[in-house]
Amino acid sequence: MKIALDVEGTIANPHLFFLEWYNKENNTNYTLNDITKWGYPQKNFNMSIEYFHEIIDKTWREKWDKIPLTEDYLATNIALLYQFNTLDIVTCRVSCEDEIKKFLEKRIIKYDNFVGVEGSTTNKVKLDYNIFIDDSPKLAEKANIFKKPVLLYDRPWNQKIKDTTYIKRVHNFNEITATLKIP
Ligand SMILES: [Mg+2]
Repeated sequence: MKIALDVEGTIANPHLFFLEWYNKENNTNYTLNDITKWGYPQKNFNMSIEYFHEIIDKTWREKWDKIPLTEDYLATNIALLYQFNTLDIVTCRVSCEDEIKKFLEKRIIKYDNFVGVEGSTTNKVKLDYNIFIDDSPKLAEKANIFKKPVLLYDRPWNQKIKDTTYIKRVHNFNEITATLKIP
């Protein structure tokens, strides 16, 4: 089986540095749970999408080695996915490809190919994969239309997406390996 594994929000949490920076600049106290809209500039955050991406790019460039994983023991579960499938890293953060690769190496995340996708995250559905593991609600909606299966990684910003024939919400990588019936 060919699996497309997303990076930001699914295995990496650059959002924590974004929040740290934002809270300091604006004297606020936001947490991950306040990011309820994917792609941001929601009312709370009052910023342009371009500026948001600038901050996330800067986070990758300057702090790639400190960006946390989304959960403990992720590498073990990803190694299982890798062992029994073709597992590609598929990301739209093409501006920081080198830093993401260094992050993956440091975190001992095994994968077959690194695939950078230009433009919108929804462009991923045009690629030839059997299943997408991703946190993006936009990708989930698009994949549902194109009848491509998605394991939607549970995040505060994708809560409005309901399970369908093609979308299944998952809460952690134990659930992912169990869903894919990996021993
Ligand atoms: Mg993502």
